[in-house]
Amino acid sequence: GAELGELDKRYVLHSHQRDQRPFRRMIVRGVGSTVWDAEGRELLDMLGGGIWVAQVGHGRRELAEAAAAQITELAHFTSFFEFGNDKSALLAQRLADLAPGDVNRVFYTSGGSEGVDTAIKLARLFHHRRGQTERNWIIARHFGYHGATLGGGTATGIPDMQVGVGPNLPHVEKVTPPYPYHSEMYGGEDPTDFLLRELEATIERLGPENVAAMIGEPILGGGGVIAPPADYWPRVRELLTGYGILLIADEVITAFGRTGAWFDSAERGMDPDIIVTAKGLTSGYLPLGAVLMRDRVADVMAAGQASFFHGHTYSGHPTACAVALANLDLLENEGLLKRSLEIGDWLRAGLAPAAALPAVGEVRVEGATVGIELVANPETREPVAPDLALAVADELYENHRIITRNYGPTLVLSPPLVLDDQQAKRASSAIVDVLSRLDV
Ligand code: PMP
Repeated sequence: GAELGELDKRYVLHSHQRDQRPFRRMIVRGVGSTVWDAEGRELLDMLGGGIWVAQVGHGRRELAEAAAAQITELAHFTSFFEFGNDKSALLAQRLADLAPGDVNRVFYTSGGSEGVDTAIKLARLFHHRRGQTERNWIIARHFGYHGATLGGGTATGIPDMQVGVGPNLPHVEKVTPPYPYHSEMYGGEDPTDFLLRELEATIERLGPENVAAMIGEPILGGGGVIAPPADYWPRVRELLTGYGILLIADEVITAFGRTGAWFDSAERGMDPDIIVTAKGLTSGYLPLGAVLMRDRVADVMAAGQASFFHGHTYSGHPTACAVALANLDLLENEGLLKRSLEIGDWLRAGLAPAAALPAVGEVRVEGATVGIELVANPETREPVAPDLALAVADELYENHRIITRNYGPTLVLSPPLVLDDQQAKRASSAIVDVLSRLDV
């Protein structure tokens, strides 16, 4: 176990400040919500593959068989250019059926960041093809996470992502997101009124004729699992429609059951023109992303115009699409969307004692994902130093064999949707135990 960790440290670049830490946690096996590290320790995976991904749990034979059958038949043939394949067509039909309204068309990527970049390009193309060639600005939000490519990374509102790599892409502007726990941001005004006023002022400053799209996660994920007030997205949608600006929902985390729905944007009245998905689409068994869009957005690529050259070697990867189809079957047949909400109920009940602790500012439960925001001072709501939240995750791993992670001052959970009530109970009581001994 230790030698493997050494190998990883010696040869594998983990592009993150935590690369400075003296060890690596080598996770080498998993079944359901349980994984094992290279030292043979059994751990409860409260992060779903470490990063909001393992919807159907680890070690699912059904997905292994779907992959093996497709690899035997045809492992890969791109759906770039004029090529297509059976599995990517069948999956697109399935996604169109699940997606709301006239969101019927699919562009495949290898993951979320490529999907965000695609969505940004598509939004601009949509306007340019209609003669509005100045519509290039993208409005994103502070605390938003949209990936690590130059496009997605620039749209990301987490400053660490942009340190030391020179200029970001131009034409991306950030606005304030809803953050109910920190309502001091709104100076006493109704949060949605404040945010809409700021958004409108931003659009007017940029010039509405210069704005292509706004991008946002239905609930902030990496920013700390933060849901908006119920009227936020409907009012944003209405405002954008008035200005002819497209809305991109980044559902890389939320789609496919994480918060209990196929598409969280549909639950929150977001009514997006483009939906970016990845992660839960295959439960992470193979890398795959799908950008879903309204017919009228897809139609801009129609024949008869100068060609738009955009695609990836692995677009429509048949093996990844076969796994996605089998994964959607599991989500559906095992009732895992409903289970996601149950997991949320179990965790809410189990974590109730944590909410009363002085170090805990807020426990936010959105289906099977949770953010526990830690505070240095409950009166001022001043956040703890991220290192302290990291220490909590470390103690949970070392002493309780539970995998969690901090995003800044917030401890995040996103377990597989097959977590059972006993596991939820075990995780909650360990978290309450560690937090109750926290000295802030
Ligand atoms: N958008 C959101 C909301 C995400 O959480 C992530 C990944 N955590 C991405 C985009 C980027 O996806 P990927 O890492 O697959 O490129």
